[in-house]
Amino acid sequence: MATLTAPTPTAPERAPAIDALTVNAVLNAVRQAANVLCDRWSLVTLLLAQTGTHRFNDFSERSGMASRLLTSRLAMLDEQGIIVRLPYTRRPPRYDYHLSHMGLALFDVFATMARWEQTWHASGGGLRIEHLPCGSMTVQPASHCAACDAGLQAIDIKLAVSQREMRPMPTKATSYRRSTLSTTKRGTGAPIPLTHAIDVFGDKWGIELVMCLFTRVRKFNDFQMHLGISTNILADRLAHLSALGILRPTTDADRYGKGAYALTDKGIDLHPILLAIQAWADQWLPERYRSPVKFVHRPCGHPLQLRVSCDCCGEALERGNSCLVIERAGEPGQQKVNANANCAKGIRAQ
Ligand SMILES: [Zn+2]
Ligand SMILES: [Zn+2]
Repeated sequence: MATLTAPTPTAPERAPAIDALTVNAVLNAVRQAANVLCDRWSLVTLLLAQTGTHRFNDFSERSGMASRLLTSRLAMLDEQGIIVRLPYTRRPPRYDYHLSHMGLALFDVFATMARWEQTWHASGGGLRIEHLPCGSMTVQPASHCAACDAGLQAIDIKLAVSQREMRPMPTKATSYRRSTLSTTKRGTGAPIPLTHAIDVFGDKWGIELVMCLFTRVRKFNDFQMHLGISTNILADRLAHLSALGILRPTTDADRYGKGAYALTDKGIDLHPILLAIQAWADQWLPERYRSPVKFVHRPCGHPLQLRVSCDCCGEALERGNSCLVIERAGEPGQQKVNANANCAKGIRAQ
């Protein structure tokens, strides 16, 4: 069993390297989730849907996406069962878009992203969470182990790999959609909420590189070997994540080896988002994509199940008891939605 971490910059690394088979199993599991989720415009579309956007024109206006781009993303999310297209007029035929149960289950992903934005960016990310049971209007979500209720830290998370479920791993990454790295909004839409988190997770190489670092793969050649990524794209993504303050080239050759990269504290703090994405993938992706890798909470020894809670009352923060609010400066009547109310009746459960 290996520890999923990320020694902090102030704590010298003493843990041994994780074996290549385990690293590949972790990366393959992340890759399956990333293939579905980690595209900038898919994430933006899903975030808007989580906050109550249903109409094509509203998606377009709020995201700034061109019609063709938005059409392709909605079609893809519909095909994957995350969004459902429902008619709202017959003549002429017009459709709006609702989250399926599979899409609603992404609540934890966006809640943990919101927490990370609040922690690391003064702007707070532009997405506010309200907790209905206690009435808190500005929840800062907290991440806990569901078994023992302790607050989560990356250093306390272990990897457990089921050899029985281990499958042959792809020798290289699957094909990737092109996805711009720019954070600049387009069109007339308001600034996109959670823009920094989407900068990291809106690109599949981004999540794979972060996961590499969590599994103590640190060097350029090793990234290439595990990811099957070309040198120019790898250099570009490393520079991008470095500019975002997620990783840094380390000069401490004694601790990390020569030419290595390390996660910053801000990068290490991405771990609840990774856990939420992995939990979603394990629950909703087809059986053949299930990960042989499980997380264990070291202090209590139980399989790690993420529990997101309200910092005000300590109770669970769930899609059925929370409102996601996009903060729009100067706009009368902010968009406020009970997350559970977005689920269309009669949609298919996966
Ligand atoms: Zn625990
Ligand atoms: Zn509360």
